[in-house]
Amino acid sequence: MNIAAKKSLGQNFLTDESVLNAIINSVNVSDQDLIIEIGPGKGALTKKLKKFNCDLIAFELDERLVKILKELEDEKTKIIFGDFLKVNLDDYLKKKYKKIHVIANIPYYITNLIIRKLIQHSTQIDDITLMVQKEVAMRLASAPNHKSYGALTIFSNIDYTVTKVIDVSKHCFSPVPKVDSTVVQFNKRPEKLLINDIEVFSKLVNDSFKNKRKTLRNNLSNYDWLKILSILRENGFDDNVRAEQIPIETFAKVSNSL
Ligand code: SAM
Repeated sequence: MNIAAKKSLGQNFLTDESVLNAIINSVNVSDQDLIIEIGPGKGALTKKLKKFNCDLIAFELDERLVKILKELEDEKTKIIFGDFLKVNLDDYLKKKYKKIHVIANIPYYITNLIIRKLIQHSTQIDDITLMVQKEVAMRLASAPNHKSYGALTIFSNIDYTVTKVIDVSKHCFSPVPKVDSTVVQFNKRPEKLLINDIEVFSKLVNDSFKNKRKTLRNNLSNYDWLKILSILRENGFDDNVRAEQIPIETFAKVSNSL
């Protein structure tokens, strides 16, 4: 069936077999697991995911794809038509699974909202493998002292550590998008990061990166700077430090002291 890709829905279908295989090979899945896919499109990735022979739930917004996707349904594979952002994920995570994975080539216009929704379920979801725009991948998998390091890096690396799986040329999609892509993977941290109050932590991080050209001291002019400075000094930083130099563990220590 010839279905014209809708730009407004972020429809760039993955056509490169080796990229599909690289995504599949990056995840350890058993038949007692659950895979969640967001935006199965014409089912290129879904067909590969079915080979794991575990429960698979795919959420697709575009009802023109009903005919193609319904053919992939069976006892283990369910396609749910609707907006993934409006779905109550808890309704689908009730059954006991050995592991829960999210694996998806997502629509880029809602990348941040999808990531925010998924990391809110970090106690249930073991790993997340996503195709994202290359620039976003650089921010997600960044490290201190890199231009791309910022609040998005920190919020994505609280419960997980994000690493790059593979860079993907725009020519691996149809239609060819304007940007190159990268597959990234969120894996649970081996040791949980200790954050006493996530709201204090979030506010501290947002305030710290408010103006990237300013020093941390200037961005945090409403805070008890001497208290913060004493923690920073214990961690090897001085009065002139900038937010992009500070690792997430130090932000956690500072926020726990406030
Ligand atoms: N997974 C397919 C592939 O790799 O070829 C398609 C990927 S395409 C980049 C993104 C898909 O997400 C499209 O099929 C689009 O219709 C779907 N989509 C867009 N917005 C959505 C939403 N809010 N909820 C669920 N699916 C959505």
